[in-house]
Amino acid sequence: MSLPTHIDLQIVTPDRLLVREQVDEVEIPGSRGYFGVLPGHTPMLASLAVGELWYRKGQEKLYLSIAYGFAEVLPDRVTILARLAERAEDIDIERAESARRRAEERLAQSKSDVDYERARTALSKSLMRLQVSARLPGGARMGELKRLRDTARG
Ligand code: ATP
Repeated sequence: MSLPTHIDLQIVTPDRLLVREQVDEVEIPGSRGYFGVLPGHTPMLASLAVGELWYRKGQEKLYLSIAYGFAEVLPDRVTILARLAERAEDIDIERAESARRRAEERLAQSKSDVDYERARTALSKSLMRLQVSARLPGGARMGELKRLRDTARG
């Protein structure tokens, strides 16, 4: 049997199908660390952490922020079922910045009613979104452009 030459990548969240493409390589934020997948990979199932996922089509690399769920890897197919996933260009940078500030303020408090675990999770999601959005060349931040457009429209 010949080895597959591509990977059919699907990235699905509870509310949408975000990616369905033929790609050459994927890197996945597994809960035990990042791992790379090339065509012909051994079948495996992995749980996902909060992290950055990228996939490559030829020379082009595309980035997403991902949080929680599962990855099913087959020699010619990768399926990502993620609780949260956003393409770099859809990330609202200001929203992520304010989520980061909020989480940092909560973590700095020493009150008994602060849910530190929740604040830590919010912090890591916001930092991940900021990291992924920074992968874009300056002009391509669609989330930012959309927000500016909406603000301008009132
Ligand atoms: P916030 O505190 O800003 O609401 P959150 O971490 O509580 O952020 P989540 O529960 O992680 O939000 O996500 C809720 C929904 O909003 C998801 O669909 C997620 O993809 C989307 N989302 C959250 N933050 C951003 C962002 N900065 N840019 C684009 N989409 C986002």
